[in-house]
Amino acid sequence: MSEIDLKAYIRDIPDFPKPGILFRDITPLLANPHAFNEAIEQMAAHYEGKQIDAIVAAEARGFIFAAPLALKLNCGFVPVRKPGKLPFDTHSFHYELEYGSDTLEIHIDGVRPGQNVLMVDDLLATGGTMKACCNLVEKIGATVAGCCFLIELKALEGAERIAPFESFSLIEY
Ligand code: 5GP
Repeated sequence: MSEIDLKAYIRDIPDFPKPGILFRDITPLLANPHAFNEAIEQMAAHYEGKQIDAIVAAEARGFIFAAPLALKLNCGFVPVRKPGKLPFDTHSFHYELEYGSDTLEIHIDGVRPGQNVLMVDDLLATGGTMKACCNLVEKIGATVAGCCFLIELKALEGAERIAPFESFSLIEY
């Protein structure tokens, strides 16, 4: 059992990046190897025994958790990036958010049909980004095995938006 209170390593930053937004800053957790390791261990424990062939995460903070988790689960890591960043041929996907829209890209050979894919990000807010990534993975013909987050902002009901895909988070606000 862990003695580490992961929430104690999250710093609240009022009015960032805009007035009225309370930003949950994960950098104190990243700076502490015990807390960071504990977070990865807890994530890995949740998916133990499940078939996971690849982990997909969108830049940038999702990468931080996806890479060590992929090593722990003995599977590959597949990056999703902003347009023009990936060097090989890509699937490009455009999606709508509450305020505006966005485009992300994934290599065409990153995820293969039939694979079980775990989706990872640092924080679940409205779920818009994660839902779009899940839809892309399923469109490729792979299966979303779950969506894993360090933090979930419950009031924004992101888990409901992501459903029926399963979501799991270590810290809730
Ligand atoms: P959503 O698409 O669920 O509305 O937003 C989630 C995305 O926004 C995540 O990729 C996350 O990195 C970023 N994000 C939004 N608010 C915060 C926050 O307070 N703290 C951190 N660390 N990331 C946030």
